[in-house]
Amino acid sequence: MTKRLVLIGHPVAHSLSAAMQQAALDAAGIDARYELLDVTAPELADVVEGLRGEDYLGANVTIPHKERVVPMVDRLTDDAQSTGAVNTITREGRRLVGHNTDVPAFKVALDEIVGRQKMPRTAVVLGAGGGARAVVHGLITAGFLRVIVFNRHLHRAEGLVRFFGRSAAHMELKAMPWHESIIEVELSKAKVLVNASSVGLGNDLSPIPAELIPPDLMVMDLVYRPRLTRLLADAAAAGSAATMNGEVMLLHQGAAAFELWTGQAAPLDLMRAQLEAGLAADAGGLDEAAVGELDESAAAASATTGDSA
Ligand code: NDP
Repeated sequence: MTKRLVLIGHPVAHSLSAAMQQAALDAAGIDARYELLDVTAPELADVVEGLRGEDYLGANVTIPHKERVVPMVDRLTDDAQSTGAVNTITREGRRLVGHNTDVPAFKVALDEIVGRQKMPRTAVVLGAGGGARAVVHGLITAGFLRVIVFNRHLHRAEGLVRFFGRSAAHMELKAMPWHESIIEVELSKAKVLVNASSVGLGNDLSPIPAELIPPDLMVMDLVYRPRLTRLLADAAAAGSAATMNGEVMLLHQGAAAFELWTGQAAPLDLMRAQLEAGLAADAGGLDEAAVGELDESAAAASATTGDSA
């Protein structure tokens, strides 16, 4: 029987996970199909319940459901437990296990952007959703001593800070209101900026005005489509120390998920090549259909996260 894997999200049209995972499954000779499943919040519980069936190998969970899915699984691994977010589900008989492969993937991306320099200690994070939880967890465990989280809806950033309360007791982890003057002051004190909001997904918008970005900042954007986001272009123009989009993180969270579902080593080079081919296809400018699809995705992302706040 052909097994099923699904990416559960809303929107999912922007995702390159299907191309990356299907190529890896085919190369490993695993009879399984990876499908994109657009699932709204009210539909989520039923869809997750359906994953208990024998035809499923598991699932990925993406924007905006990573936190919402936590109580719907039977067991959480350490990374899922310590972030309160799940991006990968595996099945043990009829029991569902929630994992968070964004955690190790963000660590790889952070190490890569920092390179040979000493690990910085100060960061600003934009966004407080499921992705931001993996980022903040990664910054805490990497030894950061001051992390400021800005979110459009402040209460969600405050909830995130409360969640990490104990593991962040030795350092300064704060939620602050999304005011440009406050962001500017905090950026002037920080070494690293991570955009974990969905602003810029499928469009040329930046979460912050270019003038706020000081030189010499390391800037990571979890968004990977478009490849050069407005934030990263502005950061490069401001003289940033290093910039990185979400490709590295996407690749490594996908590779870790593949290993959990199949028990086999992920064909990393093949997955990277698939990802690059998908992104290179955007390079001459997205065609009209793709722009429409991505615009809808971004609007849905914004609306959904707004509604849920
Ligand atoms: P969530 O839905 O959980 O969170 C979305 C976040 O974006 C919230 O902080 C939300 O703020 C914010 N946001 C949405 N619209 C706006 C807006 N118009 N202005 C300001 N803030 C806004 O999604 P995820 O955390 O799962 O994903 C966030 C982004 O990170 C997505 O673009 C996703 O693709 C990317 N990502 C990439 C990964 C990778 O591997 N490269 C891994 C994980 C995430 P509010 O709470 O106020 O609504």
